[in-house]
Amino acid sequence: MTNRTVAGALSGELKQFIEPARVLDSPEARIAYSYDATTRQSLPDVVVKVKSAAEVAEILKLAGRLQVPVVPRGAGTGLSGGSIPFAGGIAMVFTEMRSIKEIDQENMVAVCEPGVVTGNLQKEVERQGLFYPPDPSSLNYCTIGGNLAENAGGPRGMKYGVTKDYVLGLEVVLPNGDIVHLGGKQIKNVTGYNFVQFFIGSEGTLGVITEATLKLLPAPPARKTMAVTFKSIDRAAETVNAILYSGVLPAILELMDQKSINYVEDYLHLGLPRHVEAMLIIEVDGMPEAVEAETSKVAMLCKKMRAEDINVAKDNPEAEQLWKARRAVSPAISRVRPTKIGEDICVPRSSIPAMVREIRRVEEQFDLPIVIFGHAGDGNLHPNILTDKRDAQEMERVEAAIEAIFEAAVKLGGTLSGEHGIGLSKKPFLPIDLSPQTIDFMRAMKKAVDPANILNPGKIFGSEL
Ligand SMILES: Cc1cc2nc3c(=O)[nH]c(=O)nc-3n(C[C@H](O)[C@H](O)[C@H](O)COP(=O)(O)OP(=O)(O)OC[C@H]3O[C@@H](n4cnc5c(N)ncnc54)[C@H](O)[C@@H]3O)c2cc1C
Repeated sequence: MTNRTVAGALSGELKQFIEPARVLDSPEARIAYSYDATTRQSLPDVVVKVKSAAEVAEILKLAGRLQVPVVPRGAGTGLSGGSIPFAGGIAMVFTEMRSIKEIDQENMVAVCEPGVVTGNLQKEVERQGLFYPPDPSSLNYCTIGGNLAENAGGPRGMKYGVTKDYVLGLEVVLPNGDIVHLGGKQIKNVTGYNFVQFFIGSEGTLGVITEATLKLLPAPPARKTMAVTFKSIDRAAETVNAILYSGVLPAILELMDQKSINYVEDYLHLGLPRHVEAMLIIEVDGMPEAVEAETSKVAMLCKKMRAEDINVAKDNPEAEQLWKARRAVSPAISRVRPTKIGEDICVPRSSIPAMVREIRRVEEQFDLPIVIFGHAGDGNLHPNILTDKRDAQEMERVEAAIEAIFEAAVKLGGTLSGEHGIGLSKKPFLPIDLSPQTIDFMRAMKKAVDPANILNPGKIFGSEL
């Protein structure tokens, strides 16, 4: 943390050009912005609720002059510590920049500020018959700025892609305070470097996003959901590939393992079969006739793959009932032990059965309960270790188990994170996945845009550049 004299001077200087009501330095405010959805916490010296790109630029210039860190923050739902101001400085909060500036029906794009809540944008575009597919489970709270900075994904990722696939243009404030405009409403644009994507997934370390132009799609008129159970998890994983080979591209293909099924059943008493090793939740969408035909094809395939039970929802309320189990996994497993550490590996789809076996091996080796669920369609699994962070000895085993999971994922051609980012939580493990040359190249990019290391320092890499 910056020393208190510098922190006092910082607040004073900020209040010279930002309304004092939006510059918060009380202990309560600093605590409120000191954590995200991980178990970590660190106090900022001051919190600023920004309202425009011009303000962001002035703050970055001031921070550069005083050499204090600036940490952009959306809703603080991040799962890798990205918005935690672990070196103190300024928490730059975007919740007041929440205007959807335009929904351009003709060009099918939305232009919005970074503090717009993802679910609100989705509802607004749906009112106009359009569709913004990226659907992180946190969509009722998280912001578009946080989604862009983490390249957030969700269950629809396998058919529709993730946040990066919907970004056409950005307004970004660089660490030196310059405001740059990249891309725009055009679908095609090869004028200069593709720097729109440079900032996506950069975890607030390269620039501050102050506006985004997002691609929209026509809303699919029909969708159908089914839940399919399997005695063997390998069979469930093989079925995912069989469905895709058959020519059907479901919008969603979610996997729950036996532990998650049982914890959800303990929690909600939905009548889920406790003995099955896996459940797939499958959703197809599109034109009504196609949806009917594809649903029948998928159901037939599941039967051929010896699924134990195939439950196709007849209508929306029944579909909601099927989704209830998948949505309840996180709250259900949170009740089991005091601490839940959720990981986010992604492997090539064909490696899912091998990855599940590796996780079971790690579970046994380190004697820790690990629940597996995730997006089977795109290989993005969330092994969740159920533990107690007050038990130092157990936490040592947890750290070793996480490392073993990452090593196994990378050996199987996978990666450390499919959607939550590296932030603070995974930076010690970066060398498992990336070569020294690749890390040096990334550091060089960071140094080129932020030589003074003002913007979200110490995230992804160590604190020194
Ligand atoms: C219950 C739960 C479920 C979740 N489910 C999913 C899921 O399905 N898929 C998924 O991908 N994630 C999921 N997440 C993680 C999280 O919601 C996402 O990473 C989300 O994108 C974070 O958005 P946020 O607004 O909360 O950002 P924050 O947590 O505030 O910040 C995240 C990162 O973005 C940076 N940032 C924020 N705004 C800006 C900006 N304007 N310019 C530059 N950088 C910025 C921050 O510095 C930080 O590095 C889940 C989290 C929870 C708690």
